[in-house]
Amino acid sequence: MKKAFCVVLTGLFLLPAAACARPVEPDPSAYSAAGTAEIPVEILGELDEATLADLVDEPKYVALTFDDGPREDTTAALLDGLLERGAAATFFVIGSQVPGNEWLLQRMKAEGHQIGNHTYSHVRLKTADKDSVVEEIHKAEVLLKEAAGEGSFWLRPPYGALDGQRAALIKTPMVYWSVDPQDWKLLDTEKVVDAVLCAVQPGDIILLHDFYSTSVKAALEIVDRLQAEGYDFVTVEELFRIQGVEPQAGTLYARPDRIKTLS
Ligand SMILES: [Zn+2]
Repeated sequence: MKKAFCVVLTGLFLLPAAACARPVEPDPSAYSAAGTAEIPVEILGELDEATLADLVDEPKYVALTFDDGPREDTTAALLDGLLERGAAATFFVIGSQVPGNEWLLQRMKAEGHQIGNHTYSHVRLKTADKDSVVEEIHKAEVLLKEAAGEGSFWLRPPYGALDGQRAALIKTPMVYWSVDPQDWKLLDTEKVVDAVLCAVQPGDIILLHDFYSTSVKAALEIVDRLQAEGYDFVTVEELFRIQGVEPQAGTLYARPDRIKTLS
């Protein structure tokens, strides 16, 4: 149904796929704007046609993010596919799954991906006591550092669930998402591809899980389809840099220009 709806909309109004209805409508009251590096209108007016054309032709950037790995077979297949395509991604890793899979984290780092923290045991931080919040994050971070070396491991709270009091304990920026195809529920490659392609816009952060082979296949198809439309796949950190947004510790971002309200 979603695909049909998407095709009908694009066919009728000659709009790009991004005009499709989002599978999960974001609630505007749940976000506030972060800083952006937009081109001021008055400057745009002074640009000659060639420069304007260059700006229009600039790549569109998007960040693929993967939660709940690493998992030996699926994560390795994903890394192979991303390498083949020259696409970078961000992996929010569960600490307890690192032992035995250190080589996958070393590959991620060597191949230009960003590694993030998804807690040690995938705990719901919003309802955990404050000592557990700190311990869950620290325990995972120690394992990430042992496997991949020093670095800043941004946090994605499991389920995206966090409140303001606990957020104040977090010493790194935090990453939510702006496109969620619910791949863990669909477990269907084509449906996941369609859901992402219908929703995606430049600057988005896409949520997927490298734990499922259907999601890995979907991710690689998404890369192929969006690269053909001029998209570049970058890490979340790069997306912030490109958009000129300085990420703040303890802040949960849905995109570099959109902060998720903590409840
Ligand atoms: Zn998760």
